[in-house]
Amino acid sequence: TETPKLDFIREIIAADLASGKHATTITRFPPEPNGYLHIGHAKAICLSFGIAQENASTGAKCHLRFDDTNPEKEESEYVESIKEDVKWLGFDWGDNLYFASNYFDYFHDCAVELIKKGLAYVDRQSPEKIKETRGNLQVPGTASPSRDASVDENLELFARMRAGDFKEGEAVLRAKIDMASPNMVMRDPVIYRVLHAHHHNTGDAWCIYPMYDFAHPLEDAKEHVTHSLCTLEFEIHRPFYEWVIANCPVPAKPRQIEFSRLNLNFTVMSKRKLLTLVKEGRVNSWDDPRMPTLSGLRRRGYPAAAIRSFCKGLGITKFKGTTDIALLEHEVRGHLNEVAPRRMAVLDPLKLVITNYEEDRSEEVPVPNHPGKPEMGERHVLLTRELWIERDDFMEDPPKKFFRLGPDRYVRLRGGYIVKCTGFEKDAEGNVSEVHCEYLPGTIGSDAPEGVKCKAAIHWVSAKEGREAEVRLYDRLFSVPDPDGADEGFVSVLNPESLKTVTAWVEPMLADAEPETVYQFERVGYFVADRRDHVAGEKLVFNRTVALRDSWGG
Ligand code: ATP
Ligand code: MG
Ligand code: MG
Repeated sequence: TETPKLDFIREIIAADLASGKHATTITRFPPEPNGYLHIGHAKAICLSFGIAQENASTGAKCHLRFDDTNPEKEESEYVESIKEDVKWLGFDWGDNLYFASNYFDYFHDCAVELIKKGLAYVDRQSPEKIKETRGNLQVPGTASPSRDASVDENLELFARMRAGDFKEGEAVLRAKIDMASPNMVMRDPVIYRVLHAHHHNTGDAWCIYPMYDFAHPLEDAKEHVTHSLCTLEFEIHRPFYEWVIANCPVPAKPRQIEFSRLNLNFTVMSKRKLLTLVKEGRVNSWDDPRMPTLSGLRRRGYPAAAIRSFCKGLGITKFKGTTDIALLEHEVRGHLNEVAPRRMAVLDPLKLVITNYEEDRSEEVPVPNHPGKPEMGERHVLLTRELWIERDDFMEDPPKKFFRLGPDRYVRLRGGYIVKCTGFEKDAEGNVSEVHCEYLPGTIGSDAPEGVKCKAAIHWVSAKEGREAEVRLYDRLFSVPDPDGADEGFVSVLNPESLKTVTAWVEPMLADAEPETVYQFERVGYFVADRRDHVAGEKLVFNRTVALRDSWGG
């Protein structure tokens, strides 16, 4: 068999294992618990956890690390949701769950070490002044007056920072690197700041907190991460990552490698923007089925396997681009087509009366659960005199090419008889309110008799036996491909039609649907029993996962 071509990151790892540079590989997925995970995170999860799975025979691991060094934005609700979503996506961190806030002592020790080496100094300039004196790409920065203060002086000032002697903005600790570096990140970056803030894990133990760029390489090193995989925006930060590793007392030397992030059209992915949608009530929750969050996609009925194979198909490169959301939908359709049992549900009901079928008669007709998979079996659906059919399966005055119901036309009721339309009624407003038909005895499971033109089968639900269900018709959350680029902001281009709720009639079996089961409603689309609101046997709620075909002209 042919070995599939590895992406550039897997190639690096394979080479490091082959050369003996590393005996195994340790990766990590390091979310900041300041929001729910989205489909972009799935790409990073599939990469880092995927590499650990693929190299399991060498003892490879992927850590789930909460990057919770920023005391201001983090909440435990997010920690729980992130764990749930990673598991749902199909990955397991085993014993390797970490919180960066448990390393605060270590970060502090490293900072003290840098000061002792003359590689860090306390700067008492204002934040504005610090920004101003960093210069720009044309102009080198200018040194802070404190840049050459003695080690002892800096140790004392840093101790005072830690003790709470300074207000926020009155002092920071900066790495002493190069104020003229062509890479702005290297112009003496701030590594510690004063924040008199309560932290969810460490409480009020600290009033100074490390900056991300300083903490992150140390977190990786502390956990003996070998390959620290992150998105391209960290590329210009890599020299500082390496500087930290080179100058701090580290137990291991991780290597940072960047890949391009996933961008999807018709949605937004920054947690800040997603939070805005939740807070302003533009959606109902983080797991609203319109959200690109993993919990939203889950509630929408997207199978985790479809998300994984979507991510796999994206590949890992350094090319920046935007992926068409239709590709994700295509993947979802492909998966569901294989596994989703077929059921009948009528979303826009019109009454059909079989006038030659007795009032109290009923019979069970066998309908396959999946036309292409006999092994999925069949079920029996009760046929009665009065049925619901889809309103657009009838036309008062149909064109020639319309193969469904119209006066004097024949159609097959899925799994049942061929019926002939003999008439219809209208209500006071002139809308068709009832269609009358006669059934052709003996046509269940057999071809149309001589002279009967029957070219289509329509789905139906018994008016007597069917159940009512709330059906939520979800569509894309935004009406333009690039909501981030909208002149009036992303909120101005929300799709007003992203949710339409209808009352549908569904076949009796669907009353027993378990939450999160996805069905194909024949001829309509894929629908999932809502995880939160659907109660089997009591209150039926189905979410449209995806239509049968792409209706966006893709
Ligand atoms: P956002 O900008 O959406 O708020 P973030 O990058 O700040 O996301 P983190 O919690 O820091 O969110 O992300 C954890 C990991 O997920 C990081 O390593 C980050 O690189 C990765 N990640 C985030 N967004 C994407 C994306 N769109 N594509 C691929 N990886 C991503
Ligand atoms: Mg981040
Ligand atoms: Mg962010």
